[in-house]
Amino acid sequence: MLKAFSDIPRVLEERRAQSLYRERTRLDGAQQVHTLIDGRPMLSFCSNDYLGLANHRAIARRLTEAVAAHGTGAGASHLVNGHHAEHEALEDELAAFTGREAALVFSTGYMANLGVISALMGRGDTVVQDKLNHASLIDGSQLSQARLLRYRHNDPIHLEERLKQAQGKCLVVTDGVFSMDGDCAQLKAMSELCQAHGAWLMVDDAHGLGVLGDQGQGLVGQCGLNESDVPLLVGTLGKAFGTAGAFVAGRRSTIDYLLQYARSYIYTTAAPPAVAAATREALVLVEQADDTRAHLNRLIQRFRQGVGQLPFELMPSHTPIQPLLVGSVDAALHLSQGLRERGLLVTAIRPPTVPVGEARLRVTLSAGHSEADIDRLLNTLEDLA
Ligand code: PMP
Repeated sequence: MLKAFSDIPRVLEERRAQSLYRERTRLDGAQQVHTLIDGRPMLSFCSNDYLGLANHRAIARRLTEAVAAHGTGAGASHLVNGHHAEHEALEDELAAFTGREAALVFSTGYMANLGVISALMGRGDTVVQDKLNHASLIDGSQLSQARLLRYRHNDPIHLEERLKQAQGKCLVVTDGVFSMDGDCAQLKAMSELCQAHGAWLMVDDAHGLGVLGDQGQGLVGQCGLNESDVPLLVGTLGKAFGTAGAFVAGRRSTIDYLLQYARSYIYTTAAPPAVAAATREALVLVEQADDTRAHLNRLIQRFRQGVGQLPFELMPSHTPIQPLLVGSVDAALHLSQGLRERGLLVTAIRPPTVPVGEARLRVTLSAGHSEADIDRLLNTLEDLA
């Protein structure tokens, strides 16, 4: 805790002493699995570019064409005059993709979550959240000033207890695929509980959309849940879609309301129209990518089977997020460093991002990887073990 501004150097020193000081890894090459880090070739297992679209030629071409046609910047917020036909077409296409009446595009997922929760909820209301939800969801409910109740990770029984304690409007919020564990929320059970208690369910499927389900429909689509089961569906566009931004999809009236009241939508410059154009191209590719998703699933199976032979603890995940639970911060950093010296980039995730004692290597797999890439990671892990 920072008690006085003069404490800043001491607080930084303490963070270093606890091995919790965060450093940025500098990419000198493109965001792809074979890249350059600090000028050295590196095989990366860190990005959320699950389908390998961040460097797709057709998306890049569409982006440059749209920059030539519409310029580099939106120049204003959506409600002033930064709202472009490309944004609107993207919203319509995202609504159709998710089977919702309407969608609203935000500049980032963090802002979407802040805006949606704080616009809909207020003092006297209750937001109920999974213990492992993404920081942006927690921050959104704090901003709303509603009461925040948390339930044990992926535990519908504890969720029901929380629902019984709720007052005012109640919004239940969950990640679809949990970003640090890779497991999936039990959406069907959750949506039934929400309906029984008159609560709304909001799912942030940042890591599921594009990755899970036929045509990349995400966890919500895979569970067959519609707009009344999940009135608020958030997706991000900087992960499987390979571009940037986010959206919320739902009933037309809900989206109209958010357009009026979501402050992180209203009081910020719209994303460049060219990014929206590029995302429209990405959306077409995501829908057509069933073969790519099948390849990715084979890589996931191969990795899990391989780790099964090694002295590392896997987590119950069938998604491209395949963390290896290590425990202590120092052990996680040591492993990550060992991999890096051998040309493999795998980030160590430490508290406060994950609970104390649960430091891990967050391995993320991408369709850009080959089977040989997975085997190289497995062989190197075996050497380090
Ligand atoms: N939700 C989840 C579950 C996430 O993992 C992230 C980003 N890692 C976000 C929201 C934020 O999205 P963005 O990066 O577009 O701000």
